Amino acid sequence: MPETALVWFRRDLRLTDNPALQQAIARCEHVLPIYIWAPDEEAPWQPGGASRWWLHHSVTALSAQIEALGSRLIVARGDSLAVLQRLIQKTGARHCCWNRLYEPAIVKRDTAIKQALRSAGIHCTSFNAALMLEPWQVKTGADAPYRVFSPYWRRCQPQLDDIGSPVPAPAALPPITDEIDSLPIDDLNLLPRIRWDQGLAQTWQPGESGAARRLERFLTGAIEHYGEGREYPGQPGTSALSPYLHWGEISPRQILKAIQERGLAKQSDSEHFIRELGWRDFSYQMLYHFPHTPLEPLNPKFASFPWRQDADGTLLRCWQQGQTGIPIVDAGMRELWSTGWMHNRVRMIVASFLTKNLRLPWQQGARWFWDTLTDADLASNTQGWQWSAGSGADAAPYFRIFNPVRQGERFDPEGIYVRRWCPELASLPDKLIHQPWQASPTQLQQAQLVLENDYPVPVVDLSTSRAEALAAYEQIKQNN
Ligand SMILES: Cc1cc2nc3c(=O)[nH]c(=O)nc-3n(C[C@H](O)[C@H](O)[C@H](O)COP(=O)(O)OP(=O)(O)OC[C@H]3O[C@@H](n4cnc5c(N)ncnc54)[C@H](O)[C@@H]3O)c2cc1C
Repeated sequence: MPETALVWFRRDLRLTDNPALQQAIARCEHVLPIYIWAPDEEAPWQPGGASRWWLHHSVTALSAQIEALGSRLIVARGDSLAVLQRLIQKTGARHCCWNRLYEPAIVKRDTAIKQALRSAGIHCTSFNAALMLEPWQVKTGADAPYRVFSPYWRRCQPQLDDIGSPVPAPAALPPITDEIDSLPIDDLNLLPRIRWDQGLAQTWQPGESGAARRLERFLTGAIEHYGEGREYPGQPGTSALSPYLHWGEISPRQILKAIQERGLAKQSDSEHFIRELGWRDFSYQMLYHFPHTPLEPLNPKFASFPWRQDADGTLLRCWQQGQTGIPIVDAGMRELWSTGWMHNRVRMIVASFLTKNLRLPWQQGARWFWDTLTDADLASNTQGWQWSAGSGADAAPYFRIFNPVRQGERFDPEGIYVRRWCPELASLPDKLIHQPWQASPTQLQQAQLVLENDYPVPVVDLSTSRAEALAAYEQIKQNN
């Protein structure tokens, strides 16, 4: 009797280098590819608005790829275990394969599902498809997780040689002969009702072929100067692969292989880029071993930090809407809203501004990013925010507070980035573009800019707010 395997797609929305799919094809004559929309199982981190947009298009692309190979993606909604059990009953499947995820709520759910299916006699197998090295593969000499990146990364080096080669996509998939209901993807209601997503659609092509195109563009361009180019938000100096990696439309293994095949692996810019993929693994390692950190500071002394009271949310809203009066911050927040992505340097600047100058809790920033980033990723987002706030692993010391004007002058010296996202400032000369409030009335007139009318004055004074942040930090230092 021919055997059937379910392949449960989650955040591994690709056919190439997909070990769960590969295993199912190798083991069974019949293969049932499934996607289940069950956001409540990820609470309190259900996918946000930009993530849902991406997911809609990514599942659509995967479904088309699977059809082109002769099969069909079964789309369902609701309790994952119940859906899997229903499909097992319907098809007589005895195998269920998936690729692992590492978020606390999902680990808990997957463990329960594995137990339930195994006790019903189903062979469940799971694989690593998302990381170079999984969180339990890299430990200190004392068998503990790392909290500092550099020794973590040194420890990874010898193991990276053994991560294997990506497996090619199957040439064909067995057709599904059973009558099995599938929901139209539109019925998952992932797209916004009020269409704010034009900028996302102009920027991205979700799905495996979009990922391959981005990688190609990066490997034939920006990688050559990545070490320096990655710092300048006005130019395309980074890969912009983060949403594709998050949704599993490409694997780190595929990226490493492509770098090796082009003979780029030993160049220092490529090594720098691979090290950034190492930061991604490190973030997962932190999340897995310290699962409370999406909501609580890793460094407990920050639990009593005297955040500013912003009772009516005015300051938070200014920041979210790119209306703080600090051009580099506003440019970043507008890039985020418009494209669902923000350059890493600017993420650090806007996060520092929120947590130090506005002195608002990092969790509020992390939530906003969660809703608006197409690459919103619990591990990297948590790590990025805790690092910026000074409360995380290997964090920037709290007292090292970015001056957003200096940051802008250094990393956007000609104001290319600010002019792109804050066009009302475009006619200011370069030396004023990062601090329009310093312009004389004549300079403002020449730039056709009326402050407070066309563009806000700063919502906080940079030096006063810096001093207040340092005083707040002294307070928690003394309390602990
Ligand atoms: C406050 C804050 C929040 C962040 N939130 C997220 C998030 O939700 N999702 C996310 O993917 N990244 C996040 N990052 C990390 C980083 O900003 C993005 O990964 C990067 O900007 C993505 O652009 P890229 O693909 O062009 O990166 P590249 O420079 O091309 O790097 C290649 C890949 O390495 C990984 N990477 C690079 N830098 C980091 C880093 N610092 N930490 C972890 N992984 C990294 C990403 O997967 C990235 O795609 C955050 C950083 C900060 C400071």
